[in-house]
Amino acid sequence: MRGRSILRLLFYLPFLAYAFFSFTGRLYLTLNPLYLIAAPVVAALILIISRNLWLYVFAIALTNTAVQLTGGASSQLFFFYFFILFVEGLRTSTLRYFSAAGAILILEAGSAFFHLSDASFPYGSLAAFSAFTVICYLFLRREKKRSKSLTDDLERERAKYFWLDPLNSSRSERLKALKEERYSIDAETLYRRFVEFTFATLEVNTVVLFLASGKKILQQVAICSKEEKVNKYTALTLGEGLVGYLAREKKPALLTDLGKDADRLGYYQAPVDVTSLASAPVESTGTSYGILVADAKRRLTEFEQGFLIQVSALIAADIELAAAYEERHREAMRFSGLYELAENLLTGISREELISRSFELVRELFAPDAIGFARIPDEGKPEVLRYEGGEDFNKGFRFERDRSLVAMTTKHSGFLKQRDMTKPGLYRMGPGEKSPGNCTFFGIGFAEDDKTHGVLWLEKEQVDAYSEREGKILGFAATLLSAAFLRVRYQEELSRLARLDGLTGLLNHRSFQEELERHLAESATLALFIVDIDHFKKVNDTYGHPVGDMVLAKIGEVIKDKGIAARYGGEEFALIVPDIMSQQMLGRGEEILAGIRRAEVHIKEGTIKVTASVGGAFYPSDFKTREELIRAADAALYRAKDSGRDRLVLAKKEDWE
Ligand code: GH3
Ligand code: MG
Ligand code: MG
Repeated sequence: MRGRSILRLLFYLPFLAYAFFSFTGRLYLTLNPLYLIAAPVVAALILIISRNLWLYVFAIALTNTAVQLTGGASSQLFFFYFFILFVEGLRTSTLRYFSAAGAILILEAGSAFFHLSDASFPYGSLAAFSAFTVICYLFLRREKKRSKSLTDDLERERAKYFWLDPLNSSRSERLKALKEERYSIDAETLYRRFVEFTFATLEVNTVVLFLASGKKILQQVAICSKEEKVNKYTALTLGEGLVGYLAREKKPALLTDLGKDADRLGYYQAPVDVTSLASAPVESTGTSYGILVADAKRRLTEFEQGFLIQVSALIAADIELAAAYEERHREAMRFSGLYELAENLLTGISREELISRSFELVRELFAPDAIGFARIPDEGKPEVLRYEGGEDFNKGFRFERDRSLVAMTTKHSGFLKQRDMTKPGLYRMGPGEKSPGNCTFFGIGFAEDDKTHGVLWLEKEQVDAYSEREGKILGFAATLLSAAFLRVRYQEELSRLARLDGLTGLLNHRSFQEELERHLAESATLALFIVDIDHFKKVNDTYGHPVGDMVLAKIGEVIKDKGIAARYGGEEFALIVPDIMSQQMLGRGEEILAGIRRAEVHIKEGTIKVTASVGGAFYPSDFKTREELIRAADAALYRAKDSGRDRLVLAKKEDWE
């Protein structure tokens, strides 16, 4: 610390000596011509080469001291020192050069004050240079202020998008901002804002932003111009034209005299008379996104170029933040979608509904160009149940098992990814279909006990469209979907079983009522038979209930193919025979009776045979509604019982009137 202070003192020593000797009048200006020319030139060289202000001031002090000690007269040439300071100060927009100039000037003025007798001292020049110093100082200070306000503006603009920058904002701030619609801006608006902002700040002719689209193409994403002849959309090839060339160079550029190059800008419809252009690459952490260009009909400054560089850095940062935000948003969407799907596993939805929801989910998460769902039966050809987007596969379209990717999915543990469909011999369904071209195929199979019964697939018109991570998420979705489809299958099986009677396998009472209602609405004519086994109590009493059950099951088997058969109650059955003529009713009833008479149940104790009584009613000429029909058939059944059993009685309309 002390060592450095002593060094600094040594550094300033000649300067202090110069000041001391000047003020005490011991020294006077020299007329030595060698010095008059050599000293300012040496000082200027020191400044230009070293770019070090303090070395320069040090040189002035040293040379002046040396000169004063060797004697001399007044000189105007020492003002040359100031001139160099002014130029350098303006060039680098640094105020301290003017402070240094001011300090030397005060020293010289002080020196002059003590040499009043010396009539040849250049007071006029001194005054002129003083004024010049002050003017330069003020000018530069104004520029500095403007620059500061621009930086502040930039900061403010940046702050507007803080929601895109999760690291620099709190969670609650972000949530609040996201809720306010004005912050939920899309990328296009963001680019336009930056370009408008640059255009308004720099007051140039045109500001245009190009972003890379693919490897070689630059797409114009925002433009602001005073010209009417600008293109709304321009696509440039990297390396071609002036802007294409600058974009490939990936370095900031400042062209102060465009000359003929003005015709090669690319974003004007016709040549426009602009003189200078500044550009900055839009890049961040080594990735190049594009180029920001400003042109003007005046000379653009280094400062303005610097401003452009700052804005383009902000654009690049926001592109990255937006991408990160988008990725997180997508991720969140994915997981909420998968969560919803998982929830669907717990709530009962139909197969149709599940297919719809899977399509929605897959479309939202992976934005494919086409989605399909095919049923893979145990035997026979697979069948398309739904297909959306791309080539038309109609519902019910049947296709080959071999060679198609959809069917192959069933053999790849239910998951198949084909990253490039341009390879020959690859089909979604089978030979003959239109080639999907550059396309990624993703198939998810839904299996149960190693048997795939459904395949959902997506197509994306891009080679290798999905990343490994997306593949994993798809795999996870596949597992969930598979479980959901399995559940639907169980559900369907359960509801089928719920419609049937457990003992006989015929329709149960409730579904008999539903079927009757449905057939009454759909059929022109219909016969209803109600069958009651005769003296069934005796069977139970003699052989026990289990044997009684065997008899019931046997009767169920016998009447099953005589119509839509149902177990109406304990040992009563019902048969619906749609679209029958009234004359055929007697025949059908006798068939039922004969079948029951013939039926035998063999047990240890011997063979059991039973008879039954049957009541029938006809729709619509005799009875119009379900209730009427059942009541009439029931009444006919009791008439059959009353008149001796083992017989058929048909209800007549007259009996009811
Ligand atoms: P009929 O109809 O000829 O007048 O005489 P029945 O003895 O068949 O009389 P009814 O129709 O009233 O008898 C019904 C009997 O059927 C009563 C009950 O013990 C028997 N039953 C009802 N449901 C079942 C069943 O699920 N299993 C068995 N084993 N018996 C049943
Ligand atoms: Mg009964
Ligand atoms: Mg009975």
